[in-house]
Amino acid sequence: MDKEAYSKSINRYKKGKKPPMACAVCGEDDEKVIEMHHVDGRNNSDVVKPLCMNCHSKVTAKQNRLSPKVRSKDASEENKKVVNAISLLALLRELVDRLDDIVMEMPTNV
Ligand SMILES: [Zn+2]
Repeated sequence: MDKEAYSKSINRYKKGKKPPMACAVCGEDDEKVIEMHHVDGRNNSDVVKPLCMNCHSKVTAKQNRLSPKVRSKDASEENKKVVNAISLLALLRELVDRLDDIVMEMPTNV
């Protein structure tokens, strides 16, 4: 989200209007590509965060490395904790990759 879009978003928020959705990883704010990501997996929680289609597919692919049985609603409490940990790790990895890209684009004085 650029500075102008951010300013508009803040002004909308101050007027009591809902700010536009933006990807929690990369900041993409094109509403056509924003999806709701189930942070702990669809079967384990209703907690959602907005992600763009690109970030959502990467995070979900990492969640889906676990078997459907482990991710199911009927999974053991231990398996649900594993799903929770893997899901948070997947989201964190995308954020770390984004931070790595930003740092590598910064000018250096060497
Ligand atoms: Zn994104």
